[in-house]
Order: sequence, then structure tokens, then C-alpha cells
Amino acid sequence: MLTWAIYGMVYLGSALMVYNVYSYIRFAKRLKEKKNWEKERATLNFPIVLLVMFLIGYLVVGIFGQPDLVMSGILFGGSIFVYVIFRLIQRIANRFEENEKLEAELLTAEESGRIKTRFLASVSHEMRTPMNAIIGLATLALKSPSLQPDTADRLTNIRLSAQHMMGLITNVLMMNRVVSNSLTLEEAPFSLSGMLNEVNVIAKNQCEEKGLTYRSSVEGQMDDAVCGDEDKLKQALLNILDNAVKFTPAPGEVTFTAEQTESDEKKRVFRFTIKDTGIGIDREAIPKLFTAFAQEDSADSCGGSGLGLATAKSIAEKMDGDIAVASEKNAGSVFMVTVTLTAAERQEMPEAENHEEVSLEGRRILIVEDIDLNAEIVADLLDLEGAASDWAENGQAAVEKFTENPPGTYDAILMDLRMPVMDGLAATRIIRALDRPDAKTVPILALSANAFEEDVQHSLEAGMNAHLAKPADPDHLYSAIREQIAQRKKIESGREKAPKASGWRL
Ligand code: ADP
Repeated sequence: MLTWAIYGMVYLGSALMVYNVYSYIRFAKRLKEKKNWEKERATLNFPIVLLVMFLIGYLVVGIFGQPDLVMSGILFGGSIFVYVIFRLIQRIANRFEENEKLEAELLTAEESGRIKTRFLASVSHEMRTPMNAIIGLATLALKSPSLQPDTADRLTNIRLSAQHMMGLITNVLMMNRVVSNSLTLEEAPFSLSGMLNEVNVIAKNQCEEKGLTYRSSVEGQMDDAVCGDEDKLKQALLNILDNAVKFTPAPGEVTFTAEQTESDEKKRVFRFTIKDTGIGIDREAIPKLFTAFAQEDSADSCGGSGLGLATAKSIAEKMDGDIAVASEKNAGSVFMVTVTLTAAERQEMPEAENHEEVSLEGRRILIVEDIDLNAEIVADLLDLEGAASDWAENGQAAVEKFTENPPGTYDAILMDLRMPVMDGLAATRIIRALDRPDAKTVPILALSANAFEEDVQHSLEAGMNAHLAKPADPDHLYSAIREQIAQRKKIESGREKAPKASGWRL
């Protein structure tokens, strides 16, 4: 019986050892293929020492000895020990391999994130370019004096739809920034009442068009001089107001209230309440409202991207605030947006200058634009204000036109950014470095379908005075040119030290 046990252990142990050797050979092959496992190889090769030790043991017992219980027990236990250690080492190797795979996947994800951002930037550019033509042409056509009322209505609708489309493009881009955690806020002084006025004008027009009543009010005392990202706050409020109008049938009512709820030395907390008497939202749908692409699944659904609220909430959260909602089906909705802004000193505030007195009549503007239809639209828009224009089809042509004309010929340059031969940034740098009196002072305004924050930054760094995103609203375009002409006058008369830069950013 004892002999059986001894030989059983020796044979079983030998079989296990053969299996260990076989597994080790396979494992060693796998290790050899891993070129970048130099450091790990020493640890992972550790079982070979045990293997060799126990193999020698078996050989000695097999050749010389009569195995006794202790010896065969040690050898059998050793085989099991090597087996267990070997399994552990294999598991460690598997972990290394998994980590390697995850690292590779992470790199791929980061790369695909970068590709997605580049793709979205170029899609945005491509979409904005034709939208620029649609909005520009509709605006020009609407200015025609001999327009039939029904044609004017249709043109207005074309322009409104195109503007709506632009809102969608902006939301998609903004959401991409939110998802990739790259939504950044600007910190610049602005007038809160000025921003609220602009919001009210847009919302009031939308309500009037739909036959709704619009009421807006400010409750209590509110500080006007604040610091923050005016454009993004406006976008968040307009997204919610847009919904209030969209989901309220006539003759309903939309109200917008603003109030300051807290203030200390540095911070101001504001609450904006948007209330409508519209179709309301189902209780179950409320928790999902702020998830990107979420839309209430109902017959009343009015279309849309499902991005407006998600974007608005991300903006509010970035401003140390939030959005709360209360709604009941068929009884209307209330959205409450809170944000924290920094207090600004009065003297920090941008001067609310009115440049209406600076006329565009008789001015000469250089339009740098590679797409002739776009150049034509801008030229026609300038013509409506009595300004003449020259056209350069790329940056190089612009530099040539600017150099071959005497100083002071151009009152401003409208510079596209993406162009063949030479882009707008390079052309601006060359113009600014020229040795002539107007090289530093001629206002250069980027007019581009590149609308990201970094695009604005690049334009300003290249020496431009402002960055307008296409499609530029004609009034906005006129006032930006007027502002820069007035600014130039001040610089030339020594009243202002450096050109003031301004830009619209996403
Ligand atoms: P969308 O572009 O679809 O409007 P939003 O994120 O702005 O995307 O809104 C998501 C959904 O929330 C809407 O489709 C609608 O179902 C619902 N919703 C938002 N605001 C209101 C409102 N004021 N009244 C009724 N439903 C609303």
C-alpha cells in the first residue's frame, strides 16, 4: 500500500512535471514574441528555476534511488507547487497583455476623438459656407424695393429656417465640445442688461410670429457689470426660450424673468425663469430631458435635435449653476436657470459706443474670399451701405492688392481664413509686417466659417482686429466694420494705444 502511494506520487508528479515543461515551452515562446516586455521577462521567467530544480530531483530519484515516502512527497508537492506558481505567472502575463490592449484602445480612442473633432470642424466649415450664401442672398433679396408681399413672406421664411439650421449646427458643435470635455468659458466683462435686451428682442419676435404673448421683467435690484461668457449664457437662455415658443400653441404666453439671488464681494448669482403655457412634459420624461438627443416621445413632438437642453445644462453647470424644471402635461413648463458670474468694475466694462455716426458711405473695403458667390454677397451687402469693394481671391492676391495701392486706400479688409495659395492668417501676418504707414492700422476682420474658439484666438494672434463667423448677420457685419474704422481713427489720432480685439466664439 505504501509502495503504491510512493510510486503513485512519483508517477503523478512526473506527469504533472511533463505538463509543466510543455506549458513552459509554450509560455516561453509567447514571451519571446513580446518585444516590449524586457523588464517583465525576468519575473516571468522565474518558474524556469523551479522547474529545473525539480527536474534534477526527479532525475536523481529516477536514476539512483529507491524513493521513500518523504522524498516522493517532496517531489509530488514540488510538482504541484511549480504548477500553481506557473499558473499565477501566466495570470500576471495575461494582465500585462490586457493592460497593453487597454492602453492601445485608449490611444485609438484618443486618436478617434481627435479625428472626430477635426471632422466636425470641417463639417461645420462646409455647412456654414452654403448657409452663408442662403442667408446672405435671402437678406439681399428682402432689401429689394419692388418685392411682392407673398415673396417677401417666403424669403423671410427661408431666412428664418436657415437661421434655425445655424442654431442646430451651433448646438451640435457645442455638444461635441461638452462630450469631449473641451467646452471652455470666456471671462470678459459685459453688460447683463445689454445681453438680456438682445435675448428679449429675439424671443419677442419669435412669439409675435407665432401669435404668442411675450412678457419679460427684472425682479428686484440687479448688478449690470459682470464678467463671464456672454455668448454662451445667451445661447443657453435662447435654447430654452426657443423650446418655450416651439412647444406653446397660440394664443399662449411665454414669460422671462431675471433676478439676482445672491451677491458677495466677488460673485453674483442670477436666476432666469422661463415659463410657458404650452403642452407641458410628462413626469416620466423629465429626468431624461437633459440627456443629449433626448426628446419626449409624443405625437406633439415638433422635431429638433434633442441637444438644446443638454447644451444649456452643460453651460449652466460650467458657470457653477444648474437648470431645474417643473412641468405638467397640458399645463405648461417652468425652467429655472441659475448661474454664477464674477462682479466687474464699471471701468472694466467695454464702452457702449455707438458707431452709427461712422458712415460706410464712400468707404473702400478689400474682400479676401476664395468663393466668388460669397465675395459677391458681401460686396452687394456693402454696396447697400454705399461702400465700394475690391476682391482678392486668396491671401497672396490680397497682399499684392494692398501693396500696389497707396497707403490709406482701404478702410478695412474682410479676410477669409481657409483659402488656397495663401490662407488668411499668413496674409495678415505679411500685411502687418509691411513697411508702410497703414500696415499696422488698417482694420483686418476675419470673416470665416471657422467658428471655434481657437479659430478666433488664431485670428487675433495673427494680428486681426476681430473675428466674425459666417454667416455674418448684415447689421452685425456693418457695425463691426464701423467699430473698427472708429477704432482706427482713435489710434491714428493717438487717443487709443492698441487695437481692441473682439470676436464671436463657440
Ligand atoms: P429639441 O431640439 O428636440 O427641442 P431639446 O433638448 O431642446 O431638444 O429638448 C428636448 C425635448 O424636451 C424636446 O424635444 C421636447 O420634447 C421637450 N421640451 C423641452 N422644452 C419643452 C417645453 N417648454 N415644453 C414642452 N416640452 C419641452
